[in-house]
Amino acid sequence: MGNIAIDGPAGAGKSTIAKIVAKKKGYIYVDTGAMYRAMALFMIREGISPEESDKIEAACENADISIKYENDEQVVTLNGENVNGLIRTEEVSKMASSVSVNGKVRAKLVALQQKLAKETDVVMDGRDIGTVVLPDAPCKIYLTASDDVRAKRRFDELTAKGVECDINAIKKDIIERDHRDMTREISPLKKADDAVFVDCSSMTIEEVAEKVIEIAG
Ligand code: C5P
Repeated sequence: MGNIAIDGPAGAGKSTIAKIVAKKKGYIYVDTGAMYRAMALFMIREGISPEESDKIEAACENADISIKYENDEQVVTLNGENVNGLIRTEEVSKMASSVSVNGKVRAKLVALQQKLAKETDVVMDGRDIGTVVLPDAPCKIYLTASDDVRAKRRFDELTAKGVECDINAIKKDIIERDHRDMTREISPLKKADDAVFVDCSSMTIEEVAEKVIEIAG
């Protein structure tokens, strides 16, 4: 028993794998990216731009973000509103990566994530779970795949939803977002020293899930 931390760049398949592993082990899946996305949505609605760090810092006090579970699904609420259906756009993705450089935003969301992990066993995915949020997690995975594979997966996902998109633009956005996430000053995305590195470029979803379950023991 114990928490499972999964970190890695955008589009590596973290949430897909985390959901399967959580179900198999009877753990709760916590998608921390959704919390940063809800915070980003709040800033967009407030008319704040990514560069206005003072405003982001002040405004984040007024964003009450929480997580609840309905029919086995994580629901993120922003000041009481279910925002699950509003946080998966490219605009929100970019804004999330910009607001997440802010120390005050991170402190607020990390506290919430640590509280959740204390209450129950979790599979938590994000960028700083193994390094900062749950440094004592007994199982840590750093999940990645090549830029091309990650862009193709995102493209297929969006296309399946009927969203028209351009694979090269997706690839550019992913690379830009990863660069910002990996080079920010506070809690940058990196592999924890004791995390197992998994490159899933040429693995199936089932193979990756099996590997993570094997590592978790
Ligand atoms: O995982 P997802 O793509 O939903 O995350 C959106 C953004 O939120 C990431 O690009 C990253 O900037 C930020 N994030 C973070 N720390 C986490 C999870 C997400 O900084 N633990």
